Amino acid sequence: MNSHVPGLSNKYNPRVIVALDYNNEKEVMDLVALLDPSLCKLKVGKELFAACGSEIVKKLVSLGFDVFLDLKFHDIPNTVYKACKVVCDLGIWMLNVHVSGGAKMLDLAKKAIDETKSHVYLVGVTVLTSLKQEDLYEIGFNDTVDNYALKLSNLAFQCGLDGVVCSALESPIIKSKISINFLTVTPGIRIMNEVSNDQARIVTPEQAIKNQVDYIVVGRPITQSEDPYKAIIDINTKIGDL
Ligand code: C5P
Repeated sequence: MNSHVPGLSNKYNPRVIVALDYNNEKEVMDLVALLDPSLCKLKVGKELFAACGSEIVKKLVSLGFDVFLDLKFHDIPNTVYKACKVVCDLGIWMLNVHVSGGAKMLDLAKKAIDETKSHVYLVGVTVLTSLKQEDLYEIGFNDTVDNYALKLSNLAFQCGLDGVVCSALESPIIKSKISINFLTVTPGIRIMNEVSNDQARIVTPEQAIKNQVDYIVVGRPITQSEDPYKAIIDINTKIGDL
């Protein structure tokens, strides 16, 4: 059973999730040594998982951090079902799949979590924050970003997911049209006057919280800052978590 369920065994529930986008354990552990579970949660994505595998996930969990495993599963339902079963046993706090994988895939991802009795939060990726309206047209979607994100959120809700990954720009409409309790987890966070990198739909931490976002995912503004610890403290102060 996952020992890091917010509100149950983990007394902290910080809203900042640090994206550990590194390709080696040393850089991860150098950063993590500065942190503690009251300050932030941690996100392991494709790069770190490809480099260090499930061992790094277990290590971070064993240090008491809530870990979001961001592998964005998107495959045939049976493959996603079996992959979810395996990763739920790592003690993670949150896991994601692409909502565009369809209802059957979402149902089986949820079933996997229910069967492992792991209490892992399952969230669905809606429209990547790197995509703009023109990019949606280019891949054949003629809806607006907002509408498409809302449609995918509705499907995720109907399939029993706990929430969605979206831009903080879409959080208000999702909260008002679906449920205030349906989690919104938002990357694409930029502090102010800084490069957006490959992100397109960006929002400041303060605005994200005003938009009723539950958790903000922050990568480069923390990991590439000269003082990552200070960067986290500053964000927590700005959003009222300190
Ligand atoms: O803050 P930064 O742009 O560096 O962090 C982006 C992080 O959020 C990356 O780990 C990326 O994989 C993740 N991401 C996401 N969903 C999106 C966009 C980015 O999980 N829609």
